Amino acid sequence: MPYPSTFPPLDIPDGIDLWTLLLGNKRRDFPVTKEILTCDETGRSYSWADLRSASIEFGKGLKATWGWEKGDVLAFYTPNSIDTPILTLGALWAGAIVSPANPLYTVDELAFQLRDSGAKGLVTQPANLPIAIAAAQKASLPLDRVILLGNHRDPSGQIRHFSSIHSSSTTTTTNQHTQAQISPQEIGFLVYSSGTTGLPKGVCLTHSNMVANVLQASYVEGSQWRPRGGADGRGDKQLGVLPFFHIYGLTCGVLMSVYEGWQLVVLERFDMLRALRAIERHRITFAYVPPPIVLAFSKHPAVDEYDLTSLKVLHSGAAPLTRELTEAVWNRIHVPVKQGFGLSETSAVVCCQVVDEWGKFMGSVGKIMPNMSAKIVGEDGKEVEEGESGELWLKGPNVFPGYFKNPERTKEAFSPDGFFKTGDVFRRDKHGNFYCVDRLKELIKYNGYPVPPAELEGVLIGHKEVADACVIGIEDQAKATEVPRAYVVLRDGVKASEAKAQELADWVATQVAPHKKLRGGIRFVDQIPKSPSGKVLRRVMREQVKKEQRAS
Ligand code: AMP
Repeated sequence: MPYPSTFPPLDIPDGIDLWTLLLGNKRRDFPVTKEILTCDETGRSYSWADLRSASIEFGKGLKATWGWEKGDVLAFYTPNSIDTPILTLGALWAGAIVSPANPLYTVDELAFQLRDSGAKGLVTQPANLPIAIAAAQKASLPLDRVILLGNHRDPSGQIRHFSSIHSSSTTTTTNQHTQAQISPQEIGFLVYSSGTTGLPKGVCLTHSNMVANVLQASYVEGSQWRPRGGADGRGDKQLGVLPFFHIYGLTCGVLMSVYEGWQLVVLERFDMLRALRAIERHRITFAYVPPPIVLAFSKHPAVDEYDLTSLKVLHSGAAPLTRELTEAVWNRIHVPVKQGFGLSETSAVVCCQVVDEWGKFMGSVGKIMPNMSAKIVGEDGKEVEEGESGELWLKGPNVFPGYFKNPERTKEAFSPDGFFKTGDVFRRDKHGNFYCVDRLKELIKYNGYPVPPAELEGVLIGHKEVADACVIGIEDQAKATEVPRAYVVLRDGVKASEAKAQELADWVATQVAPHKKLRGGIRFVDQIPKSPSGKVLRRVMREQVKKEQRAS
């Protein structure tokens, strides 16, 4: 029997789209002037009312400028900024599908996402413009479909500034544009993840998936804050360091803040000194972070120089967190670190620890969200006994319907009875707490960022001196992360040496986004373990490395 959630069932409205949930008037119980997005660098901010009106203006502008149609994809290639949520929500208002990309992607990586998603527009920032232009050209996206944020204008005049889309919404005719009629089953976001195997794929997240996850997380997370943050908890302030392109930062950072009325203090990218300064200056009360940032709170020498007394909790997710790290942070700054677990395919949040139980079930990622059910399944496809480990399978309103235009991978991702197979190994205790114990799938997580090994192998095999390659994740405990390592078979006549390994690793670094660099190094081998059908057996390699690590 699947495990039901131990939280009471939630009443999740089924006829509502995400924009209406967040910026319609139904539930809000904080003033419309509540500041929601604040730029740490400049102090610029948007209230909830600003967000609402600016997103509508942008949505109208999209329709007026390009005759934007429902289901058209707007891609984002920008570091965190307080403006991107406005464009994201405005695009949803206009019925668009939003597809955010990592702002550190190379031209090829971005062009792949633009082509695969069929993007009709691309939002970017001045610093990202050269790559955005090159990728748009590669993907045959006309340059007047690139929208530039920030203060700079494109000197060539080819690229539209974001304000020109806004201003086109102020004409009388365009003011007649109304919000797109969106059925909750329609796709709102197309985020990219490699899933359990292969290259990145578009994960379709419907409005109803996202609405459900905001409400689920709000019930479990939000309910913990209200009694703590003053009269109604609205004094809570979140440190916005998670990247908004990743589902964790999108749901827990942006969407939850708009829904809950939290103030999100946005940092363009993570930098420990800036983060510490922001916590002190804005009296930040909590942050969602990946384990390497938790590590920084336990080790960074500057932590002692700042007043962090406003900080009530850190939430860690996206990758495994050790008990030692949790304890080290508690011992140093007396802030509980509670753990959660989620995936792109589940609109983010699946499990999270509640503050009141902190310290009780160390190492657990908490309980599954309301309205979800889970199975823990052995290799024979049958559920294992409670307490034993197996693959985590999930069902719930936040579980995606499938990969974009990829029925084959979609079919593989679900069991015949409709459970999503996560590729993660879990156990559950008798109190309903889940523990993430291993990963069956190939995915590597560097600092919480997904690194698909198949992609790195493809890059390596493209090198003229490489005959074959296998990439796996190696634990780097000192940095609280995994790092990708390649096992490489060289072509006949090419000599293996440390210099050759470095040369190849440096070359790979020029081909991929920085988080995919081969920080775990390159090892030369005579052959790569393969299945009879020729599939790279990364698990065999991982087991081999684990054995070597245990022996050393
Ligand atoms: P993504 O789709 O990029 O969010 O990656 C999802 C994957 O990140 C999961 O399937 C897990 O393998 C991993 N992950 C997320 N949270 C945790 C966690 N708390 N502990 C261990 N792995 C995690």
